[in-house]
Amino acid sequence: MIRIDGSFGEGGGQILRTALSLCACLSTPFEMVNIRQNRKRPGLLPQHLTSVNAVAKICSAETIGAKLGSSSLIIKPNQIVAGDYEFDVAQRQGSAGAVTLVAQAILPVLLGTKNRVIIKGGTHVPYSPPYDFLSEVLFCYLKRFGIVVKSKLINYGFFPVGRGKIILDFSATPLNNSTGVVLNRGSLKKLSLVSRVCNLSLGIAERQASQFVKLLTTDFPGMQVEAKTEQVRAACPGTYVFLKAEFENITAGFCALGERGKPAEQVAREAYQEFKSYLLEKESVYDSHLADQIGIFLALSRFRNGNKGEPFIIKTDKMTQHLETNIWLIRQFLPGYQPIVKTSATV
Ligand code: ATP
Repeated sequence: MIRIDGSFGEGGGQILRTALSLCACLSTPFEMVNIRQNRKRPGLLPQHLTSVNAVAKICSAETIGAKLGSSSLIIKPNQIVAGDYEFDVAQRQGSAGAVTLVAQAILPVLLGTKNRVIIKGGTHVPYSPPYDFLSEVLFCYLKRFGIVVKSKLINYGFFPVGRGKIILDFSATPLNNSTGVVLNRGSLKKLSLVSRVCNLSLGIAERQASQFVKLLTTDFPGMQVEAKTEQVRAACPGTYVFLKAEFENITAGFCALGERGKPAEQVAREAYQEFKSYLLEKESVYDSHLADQIGIFLALSRFRNGNKGEPFIIKTDKMTQHLETNIWLIRQFLPGYQPIVKTSATV
């Protein structure tokens, strides 16, 4: 059995999620200790436990240690069972844990099986991909592998209440032979900005959007962005901006969330700064979040195509600890996984 130290590198939830996915996809049991050791509240929180239970359910796994607060886990997978599933991050206790991170754990497992999955929890919460990133950026990238996941947001969910809901529809198409490698992002085709408020005044969304447009057109005169503002309902207030940047060969996404006391202009500035640093890094292909989220697909496609160990290149704007740790984790299961990360910045 593979033994993994969950405190390695980033030492957060992603080590666990990637290990869960690989364990189910490769039918390889593992034991993890020191789960999320580097976080303020270590161990399994509701979002992580939901991911464990979700993967365990989908592949009829036996688990030891699958309980809230647990810092160790043993999981022994069986066959992956196609079907319709529903997972609720707040099933055991109130939580705004991210639905997108539960999706991150189960996506690789359900590829190639026809399923409908409903996930309830936070859809736009800190330290996780916003739903828009999943639907507009990750799912767009996955089309390279022939994978089509249709998704729908039914309810928005913000911190601290959550209670959002998304639906994912998987098709029965397995990973194709693509390597998934993109070496050049190509020219910028389109920028689309959404500035959304939930249970707050539309004026906040308008300020977020106009500040974003002002920053963009000051730095890059003549650059066009299609901006949309929207006011919707949710179980608690929240606001965000999300920029989708479509290049010839890749789509990137940049998000910032509002919070009490943070001015609307600051929300816009945060998302804009992320976009600007990516844009100015001309060699960068995958944005820094996409870079750590695609590793598992790059690894699985290589493994399934019988390629057990040829180096290949990942070009991104910054080497994050998430990316570094994820490469290490994947290599615990697939030692031949050998990406060479090309970047000019390290964070
Ligand atoms: P914890 O670290 O507390 O366990 P976690 O389960 O959220 O929390 P992390 O290991 O921090 O796990 O992983 C967070 C994931 O969310 C990473 O894949 C990261 O790229 C992604 N992410 C965070 N912020 C964004 C964002 N703004 N856009 C897209 N993806 C994001």
